[in-house]
Amino acid sequence: MMIGFQKFFAAVIAIILAIAALLGINVSQEKDVQNVIYMIGDGMGELHLEKTKHDRGISLAMETMPQRGYAMTYSASDEITDSAAGATALACGVKTYNGAIGYYWENEHEFHKEENSHPKNITELCMENGMKTGIITTDYTSGATPGGFSAHTDSRDNSEDIYEQQLASGIDLIWGKGEDYVTREKAENAGYTFVDSIQTMNAVTASEKSFGQFTASLYHTYNKNSHTPTLSQMAERAIDILSEDNKNGFFLMIEGAHIDKKSHNEDGDGATEALEEFDNAVKKALDFAKKDKHTLVVITADHETGGIVKNADGSYSLTTGKHTAVNVPVMAYGPYDFIDNGEIINNIQIPLRIAAALEFNKNCLPFEVTE
Ligand SMILES: [Zn+2]
Repeated sequence: MMIGFQKFFAAVIAIILAIAALLGINVSQEKDVQNVIYMIGDGMGELHLEKTKHDRGISLAMETMPQRGYAMTYSASDEITDSAAGATALACGVKTYNGAIGYYWENEHEFHKEENSHPKNITELCMENGMKTGIITTDYTSGATPGGFSAHTDSRDNSEDIYEQQLASGIDLIWGKGEDYVTREKAENAGYTFVDSIQTMNAVTASEKSFGQFTASLYHTYNKNSHTPTLSQMAERAIDILSEDNKNGFFLMIEGAHIDKKSHNEDGDGATEALEEFDNAVKKALDFAKKDKHTLVVITADHETGGIVKNADGSYSLTTGKHTAVNVPVMAYGPYDFIDNGEIINNIQIPLRIAAALEFNKNCLPFEVTE
């Protein structure tokens, strides 16, 4: 009788301890994001994923991510955003007018205009918190999306201004398509190692800052040559460099720009090819995150491009060469409850949630960071 009672008692204790341990693990996991890899498929709508799987007969690494919701993409000035206002929303947590890079919508934010201030972006916040930072893209680094994560200017067309701000930014690694403006001399004068090939990219060490201006035009599998890295090669190398001997964590923004560019050309095959290469980069991010266990990977888009529809025969077609207003996917992997499955959020919530995952000060972005 006594033994039976003791066994029962021991079993109850064991269950309580197991529950406590589980709760303990959950609590510590939720506060355990040290690195963030933020991936933006420019122009990537939900049906771009479906079209890519259908046309190319592949499955997507991004669809293995356990958290999947959606984001609304409208800008302050238009129902249909452009990539500049989209990047500002995704980087700074503010809605602005189409064309603005990390800049307030002046009509709505006269106060800030008078102060000549601009909304801080998540890259700057991460630097202030001692993290290493990187931006990689298949576009020019002065493009709207990388621009939104590294500069503040009233127009996406101010590319020289964006380059100058990038050179002065202190961001550890900025890599994209080459343009004449950033010369080796300019980069070196700004303290950056100039990178223009796979070989020079692979030679970069964790102790140096690097500015990548790759010479070939695109970074798709079909353009792959021995000198120009693909997006996934850039992603893998950037993660290696930023994570090496780094106890303070890192923030890396990865943009697949050509899903949008090919969709503008109503080139469905090109768009799915670009998406497949973007997904190859997602694989590199997830491989790292799974080993590291302290990395949050977030994937989204600034807007959809192409107005893809599903046809009666099960195929998918583009219906426009323009952006559309449809909600875009938001996918997350890592030790943080980033988004509920099926939840629809406003895109400005994404950087706020990243800041919350990194436990930054609640007043660090224009709108309060909410859990
Ligand atoms: Zn576009």
